[in-house]
Amino acid sequence: MNPILINGKEVAQQVRAGLISQIQELKDRGVTPGLAVILVGKDPASQVYVGSKVKACAELGLKSFHYELPEETTQDELIALIHRLNADPEVHGILVQSPPPRHIDESAVILNIDPRKDVDGFHPVNVAKLVLEDETGFVPCTPLGCMELLKSAGVATAGMHAVVIGRSMIVGKPMAHLLLGKKSNATVTIAHSRTTDLPGLCRTADILVAAVGRPAMVTRDFIKPGAVVIDVGINRIPDATRPRGYRIVGDVDFDGVKDLCSAITPVPGGVGPMTIAMLMANTVKACRQLTQEAAH
Ligand code: NAD
Repeated sequence: MNPILINGKEVAQQVRAGLISQIQELKDRGVTPGLAVILVGKDPASQVYVGSKVKACAELGLKSFHYELPEETTQDELIALIHRLNADPEVHGILVQSPPPRHIDESAVILNIDPRKDVDGFHPVNVAKLVLEDETGFVPCTPLGCMELLKSAGVATAGMHAVVIGRSMIVGKPMAHLLLGKKSNATVTIAHSRTTDLPGLCRTADILVAAVGRPAMVTRDFIKPGAVVIDVGINRIPDATRPRGYRIVGDVDFDGVKDLCSAITPVPGGVGPMTIAMLMANTVKACRQLTQEAAH
């Protein structure tokens, strides 16, 4: 089988292009969408992610408010900053780069973000809105991006059996809810570290989403011929031939499974580029909703 290679870079570019007219419309009304990005500490990977988010804002003409706080910032200080941003009319989206240092309780911090500005979709109000299929809520960016990839490849999800491997609040659970919702109508199974006969279960999947964090765990014996495979995993493995000494691989053994699939996302270049594009989309949506609220 010659699979469709789902190109995340292209789809992310289309998503960004689709935002341009919405951003212009807001600017014509005197409002520029603004995203506040907070990083506590100096984790190098987090610094790279934050840099990409700030750059994406600049490319689309969004305002970004970038806070790099020292490692020893207290939880109360961080929450005080969030309260200021909640009240700032120029800020429509707020995110705290994960993971914060150990002395900070991430859930307690997220509870303090105004749910209307929670563009990561982690606040319990937004989790509930996803389950309730209330589209005013915010859905975590990575699973939202996976849905865009399925759409772009013309995957008909209704009635299909989707297996999501991984039950995190950031990827697995929201992904499962999106697939289950009335817009997608898939029949969904969530697998996790305690699932028995994972390969056998996955072989029943028309759509297989891997969000585990284990390099090349999904091998040929996981794949039903003709399945669509979405690989969310981002894993660093040592590679002395690369300048950085490592390379990035997904959770799926891409070369080993691709001929069995009808469509598949590569890593890198699949789900990865979608996450920031959907963050931009969520920020524009937050701005639109807050602006409409203010007008009423
Ligand atoms: P997580 O560690 O929070 O969750 C992993 C899940 O995998 C858990 O629910 C666990 O039950 C399950 N699991 C672990 N071992 C398993 C096994 N042997 N069999 C079946 N299930 C198993 O991770 P996460 O935050 O959901 O991220 C998952 C992967 O996706 C990671 O590689 C992460 O880097 C990547 N990720 C990518 C993006 C992106 O932008 N592309 C965004 C977020 C996460």
